[in-house]
Amino acid sequence: MFEKILIANRGEIALRVIRAAREMGIKSVAVHSTADADAMHVRMADESVCIGPASSAESYLSKAAIISACEITGAQAVHPGYGFLSENAAFAQALEDHGITFIGPSAQHIRIMGDKITAKETAKTLGIPVVPGSDGGVADFETAKVVALEIGYPVIIKATAGGGGRGMKVAKSEEELEIAFRTARSEAKVAFGNDEVYIEKYLQRPRHIEIQVFGDGKGKAVHLGERDCSLQRRHQKVFEEAPGPAITDEMRNRIGSICAEAVAKINYIGAGTIEFLFEDGEFYFIEMNTRLQVEHPVTEFIYDVDLVREQIRVASGLPMSFEQSDLKVHGHAIEVRINAEKVPTFSPCPGRVTQYHAPGGLGVRMDSALYDGYRIPPYYDSLIGKLIVHGRNREEALARLSRALGELIVDGVDTTIPLFEALLQEPDVLSGDYSIHWLEKWLAATY
Ligand code: ADP
Repeated sequence: MFEKILIANRGEIALRVIRAAREMGIKSVAVHSTADADAMHVRMADESVCIGPASSAESYLSKAAIISACEITGAQAVHPGYGFLSENAAFAQALEDHGITFIGPSAQHIRIMGDKITAKETAKTLGIPVVPGSDGGVADFETAKVVALEIGYPVIIKATAGGGGRGMKVAKSEEELEIAFRTARSEAKVAFGNDEVYIEKYLQRPRHIEIQVFGDGKGKAVHLGERDCSLQRRHQKVFEEAPGPAITDEMRNRIGSICAEAVAKINYIGAGTIEFLFEDGEFYFIEMNTRLQVEHPVTEFIYDVDLVREQIRVASGLPMSFEQSDLKVHGHAIEVRINAEKVPTFSPCPGRVTQYHAPGGLGVRMDSALYDGYRIPPYYDSLIGKLIVHGRNREEALARLSRALGELIVDGVDTTIPLFEALLQEPDVLSGDYSIHWLEKWLAATY
């Protein structure tokens, strides 16, 4: 087992990894930008190294600075968290070249899945059902017209290199296609430096259902069921739950086995998530994330596992500590993302947190790097905490969420807490009857 690992991230996910490492008797190294000198992950780690100025490009995204920090501290492995370099194949490769272990899949697997067209083709080959759409990239508008006609409107144009809900445009008719096609391409160019796009059938009322998979890198893999992440704003998740209210045991076993077999076949190592849209009982692959997800704690609650510990174990060469038959669903879990944002515009609200009080009690987990007096810097993501609750069933989890939100205090900045308080009054949320469009419609009607 490693003696020391470096966490190439910040915020709550850096704490998440430091905590797992400490429980395993592994020393942790935090890296930080100058803007994060007072951040909680720096205080909590055994050691810390400043790797650059506030801008992410020169700090959390600087491969050279992070590798130097490993060399200086003698860290043997790097956990990338999510975001930043977590799905950067060149980073995984560079670490390997320096004899440092990347706690995640191989550069090759990251590369295959990072390119959404290749990912879709790979998924198809591995027997995973995909959304009907173009065969690969669509280079010009004339081709787009032909493809869209074949698939049938509405269609969605998506960036091959896309992520975080960016570079996606819907066209309901041929009239809308030209603008959608051109804007998707120019947005993709700006956001990802790659203007390749592809076309998919736009599903009307699907749910976003994702399957957690885990592999040992030696041909063995399991699935840990699904998460329903349908409540989204601008294709960004805000509320996630497991198990999915619309998913039966039979469906879970069927799609879960397909996913586990697929990743076993490619000798996938560590945690991964296969994302689907789900409509009328059918699953349609949209993408795979080759990293730990923000919403992984709901899965940890219902399966009683520690996914980060497991990631570290397999990265060090140990076998997985569970088999498929050990993995049984217990109760229901819900996560809400607490962002420093003003509802309903969701404009970021960085600033000083004058008072922070985390909720507690049975079945409550608060993953956050906040503390009294902490200044949320304006340079990074607005996620400041995740409140996750667990109950014996969905009703109990909802009641617990409502209770815990009541205890949570984040003063000094605007947050998404009032959004969740309002959502918990909605009959559709209480009954679990929502699609990926529900939240946007509700926001438009409510504010
Ligand atoms: P990203 O990598 O940017 O997150 P995804 O491919 O995972 O992009 O899609 C994000 C979200 O966009 C989905 O959860 C869903 O809400 C919406 N979406 C993507 N593809 C489709 C589609 N074919 N039909 C309808 N909605 C879609």
